[in-house]
Amino acid sequence: MITDKELANLIFPDVTETLDDLEKRYPKRDLPDGAEVTRFAPSPTGFLHTGSLFTAMICRKVATQTGGIFYIRLEDTDTKREIQGSGEQLLTQLKLFDVVPDEGYLANEEKGDYGPYKQSDRANIYKIAIKNLLERGLAYPCFATQEELNEIRKRQEEMKIIPGYYGKFARDRFLTNDERKEKILNGVPFVIRFKSQGNHLRKIKVRDEIHGEFEIAQNDQDIVIFKSDGLPTYHFAHAVDDHFMRTTTVIRGEEWIASLPIHVELFEALGFRAPKYAHLPVIMKLDENNHKRKLSKRLDSEAAVSFFLEDGYPSEALIVYLNTIANSNFEEWVFENGYRDISKFEFSFEKMSLEGALFDIDKLTFFAKEILATKTKEEMLDMAISYATKYDETLLNLINRDPNYFKEIMNIEREKENPRKDYYKFGGMSDTIDFFYGDIYDSLVATNGLTYNEKFDKQLIKTILGLLRDNLDTSKEESLWFADMKAIALDNKFAPNGKTLKQNPDTYIGTVGDVAEMLRISLTTRRNSPNLYYVMKVLGKEECNRRLTNIIENL
Ligand code: GLU
Repeated sequence: MITDKELANLIFPDVTETLDDLEKRYPKRDLPDGAEVTRFAPSPTGFLHTGSLFTAMICRKVATQTGGIFYIRLEDTDTKREIQGSGEQLLTQLKLFDVVPDEGYLANEEKGDYGPYKQSDRANIYKIAIKNLLERGLAYPCFATQEELNEIRKRQEEMKIIPGYYGKFARDRFLTNDERKEKILNGVPFVIRFKSQGNHLRKIKVRDEIHGEFEIAQNDQDIVIFKSDGLPTYHFAHAVDDHFMRTTTVIRGEEWIASLPIHVELFEALGFRAPKYAHLPVIMKLDENNHKRKLSKRLDSEAAVSFFLEDGYPSEALIVYLNTIANSNFEEWVFENGYRDISKFEFSFEKMSLEGALFDIDKLTFFAKEILATKTKEEMLDMAISYATKYDETLLNLINRDPNYFKEIMNIEREKENPRKDYYKFGGMSDTIDFFYGDIYDSLVATNGLTYNEKFDKQLIKTILGLLRDNLDTSKEESLWFADMKAIALDNKFAPNGKTLKQNPDTYIGTVGDVAEMLRISLTTRRNSPNLYYVMKVLGKEECNRRLTNIIENL
């Protein structure tokens, strides 16, 4: 009978290198004590998920914080699910969030000594590892057809036991090497399976940086490690790669905890020391019935990072928000230290909550407002241009009419201790600032008209607007301008405030607020706008006069 070694040679006659050769080719990294090597290992199967950005952000943080290395590995062994171009897109999007790897797969190039970093380019490396397992009788070729596998599954379902290829159901585990040889020589197609030594009735102890120590049932499935297309499966590739790329901590989503027993066993069988693991909580959402569920690619627009980019949320806001999910003490830290340099925040796995955080768009909006309020008008212009160039032609056209004018619009109540928080994203901004542009203002008035409070008749409105126009002086200080408006209001039976009006309903017809609203609607076509005084300053006296005169003549 042929030996395991001979069988291995029959399957991989061209593979002459050994695991030892790989050990030499990929030596231990020369890094200071405590330096962590982390990796983000996306599959190019679609868009960048918000949860993946979260993972990548933490990988980057942990590596930076410990003086280590963060690299990207493209896990593209599942060729059927691959979506062309998505690997490149992931990289571009990560960069927009300042999550930039030190080495690895970088879309059009690779950087680093531990590559190739694309799994499909590593077939030879996996073959060396698989040949090693075959030689030691820890893997075997499996010739089962899809029909046979379905048959096994059906039987297991009937028996109400765990499905899969394991124990006595793993028929080809019990073939002799001679039988294997004969089938191979006869050209019977096969995959290679791992020969598990585990028993699911026994437990292993595992340690996780976030979840601590816990017990989990051993693996006993003879999983496929090598497919008929010549590539390994994820589980196997991950063990080989994380070992030879010298990853120290595998940081990934909690959904992988269930696979941990397989991974632990694979590392052991290969004679590798397993890395540390940190399984991150999954980002959740409340469904219609108030049940928590995982943020879903299919159902939730906020599951895709592209949603935030396309809607023009500042990328920093999403990062700040994700940091609040990452560490419970971050929020307090950011309130104290500001948004400009959050890289100074000390992240730790211990401060990570075990519960899946609920995605909270209101909180993200809050941070986006805070962050945009810290920007200078120049930064606002740059951000708006870079957003609009990609996603919003209307906004880009507005900006291009006169970038300085746009800056002045953005600057309303900005350069002060407590800047106003008018904006949280650039998407839809063209609709909020369009009235600043005379021709657009005119067409808004022509199509929608102006809707004043019905309490006041047209004649009164005209009188008030006339007085306001004739006294308009935008060079005056805000308080003096307001005093002028108030005087006009009081002269025309408007009360100084709501309380006085309530007490003397027969003396007054409204309040100063009503007068201010008339002016606001007249100049902006809407009830809400940035501070009216500054709006007038940006519009300029002449334009304000023009708008008011038009209304007085046409109302
Ligand atoms: N390629 C896997 C995924 O797409 C990566 C899992 C891991 O980080 O180990 O989620």
